[in-house]
Amino acid sequence: MGKLQRLPVSVVNQIAAGEVIERPASVVKELLENSLDAAATRIEVSIEEGGRDLIRVWDNGSGISAEDLPLAVAPHATSKLESADDLFRVKTFGFRGEALASIASVSHLRLQSRPAGHEAGSQIEVRGSEVGPVIACGCPEGTAVEVRNLFFNTPVRRRFLKATQTEMGHIVEAFTRIVLAQPKLAMQLRHNDKVLFDLPVSDQLLERLGLFFGRELAEKLIWIESNVNGHRLWGYAADPSQSRSNARTQYIFVNGRYVRDRSLSHALSEAYRGLLMVGRYPVAFLFFEVPSEEVDVNVHPTKIEVRFRDPQQQFRQLLATLRQKFLASDLTARLEISSTPSPAESAESVSDPSAPSLDDFFSRAGTDSQASVAPPLQPAAGNQSSTTLPPFQLQAPAPLPRTAPLSFLPPQSAPALALSVPSAVSPRDESTNSGQPFNGSTVQSPPTSPTRDSPPSTHPLAALQIHNSYIIVETPDGLMLIDQHALHERVLYEEIRSRVLTGNLESQRLLVPEIIELSASEVALVTDNCAVLEQLGINVEPFGGTSIALHTYPAMLANLPADRMFRDIVDTLTAGSQTPTRRDLLDSLLHMISCKAAIKAGQRLTPEEIQSLVAQHHLAQDSHHCPHGRPTALVFSKSELEKQFKRT
Ligand code: ADP
Ligand code: MG
Repeated sequence: MGKLQRLPVSVVNQIAAGEVIERPASVVKELLENSLDAAATRIEVSIEEGGRDLIRVWDNGSGISAEDLPLAVAPHATSKLESADDLFRVKTFGFRGEALASIASVSHLRLQSRPAGHEAGSQIEVRGSEVGPVIACGCPEGTAVEVRNLFFNTPVRRRFLKATQTEMGHIVEAFTRIVLAQPKLAMQLRHNDKVLFDLPVSDQLLERLGLFFGRELAEKLIWIESNVNGHRLWGYAADPSQSRSNARTQYIFVNGRYVRDRSLSHALSEAYRGLLMVGRYPVAFLFFEVPSEEVDVNVHPTKIEVRFRDPQQQFRQLLATLRQKFLASDLTARLEISSTPSPAESAESVSDPSAPSLDDFFSRAGTDSQASVAPPLQPAAGNQSSTTLPPFQLQAPAPLPRTAPLSFLPPQSAPALALSVPSAVSPRDESTNSGQPFNGSTVQSPPTSPTRDSPPSTHPLAALQIHNSYIIVETPDGLMLIDQHALHERVLYEEIRSRVLTGNLESQRLLVPEIIELSASEVALVTDNCAVLEQLGINVEPFGGTSIALHTYPAMLANLPADRMFRDIVDTLTAGSQTPTRRDLLDSLLHMISCKAAIKAGQRLTPEEIQSLVAQHHLAQDSHHCPHGRPTALVFSKSELEKQFKRT
């Protein structure tokens, strides 16, 4: 007798169940998806003891006729596919015909159903592998599935169930994933007879987002939308101030189905690159609608992964849509006073019509990309305000002397001036700028413009450096507090990046190469990455043993001793992940270089430098955050000031 034998159907089902039904939440997901496929408009979910004792899902959908009931719980029986071709254009959530059979094989399942217009309902019960008879029963139109004693016959799985609250957390998550994609569905979730969510029909996704993720987040969501070759993308991405310490608040739906997709998550991180601190993750709720034949959902038993015909298209669309939106939005951090207002005050602030609302945030971001900051520095924008920033810097950006150790980019054009190259390689004398104007630049009070219509105010505080670290700027809408280092770092980062990309980064050749001692592994790392270093204007050669010879390095870093600068570069190389991509590496080196080259906190600036820096704020991309994701400026609105001083 041969050794092979066919597995009994009950075992086959249990194996299938092992893949699809991991925990109570998986049951909830499958049952909810069946209700959606049945075109229900109302679904009620009742759970007892985190799903261990009971999971019951009722819907008012199309129902199942008495004769179909045995098939509904049989494996590989489905009403959703007819031929293999259908598999390539799946429009329903289910299609594998295995969920009910799998659930029934590891629980006590009762299925009651009454199709619309039928006099009575019918029911069938399955206990593990025992399928009972179909009997008539009284029940409302629609379908109810009750699952009791989950994993009663697979004790290992049952034992691995977590605490009730944990399992309930997973169930709420499964519920959330459906709820967000189906705002037009009335849905209720109860646990041990307590109603957790009772959601009426709504066409406002934002409302549901507020309910599930809090109002504060909902108010910081930015609407995005695009259509590329019939692939529609819409949804919300959160302002960078609303980041999270993990990627769990990233919801991506493809044709209404919650999916996990590494490429799309990557596009999301890329879009927020430089807007978030290291280790923080963006929050987003994104919906793709693509023709069903362009996405394969038959990749994973739980259907949580999909495969796009052209994954690059989705990646590019998501990245471009987000970047364009961010560039057009004012993402400057708004300062909110964190005093605890009395109930009366908070009631007042809610109804305060002048308080910035979500609506005006969106309309401003959507229609007026200039409305961000520092309009006084932009006479062309024709701003009506009587703010007082002297316009001289715009008409003729004061060039910094060639010897200036720091570089300020002129606000508009003249890229040749952008990075002033020190003429000497020697480290600059630190004493020349501590509390002193920079070497060679003349201190002058900013001239006022005779051509301005409104008389220039003599208000001295239009842009003022405080604590040698921050700059206060008056804006038409209130005031802005700039972190000088963070902003300058961002400005330099953008500039160096574009120069690296166009091969225009200036490098400085050392007359005598600097010999630097490294460890053996560091030498290997440097040699491996010499092409990336070359892009940054850093030319090195092995110099025998564990030494390397440094020939050139970025001109912008000329104010640092060459060996120290190079050590920092090596540290940045070693700090990277195990296998950083070339792009990541280049990016972290750019961060490091811009950080080193930027003015520091504690460094006194001349009025021209202050003006020049302030003018950069609205010119640099993402100027609201430094390359490490820290905000560069805080905005304090006039209405907030008035509120705080009780003027309103
Ligand atoms: P699939 O959803 O992949 O078809 P299932 O095992 O989940 O497989 O369901 C089997 C069949 O039972 C479905 O194809 C459908 O015809 C029927 N069915 C299941 N749940 C419902 C429901 N809530 N309302 C109407 N029909 C249902
Ligand atoms: Mg199904």
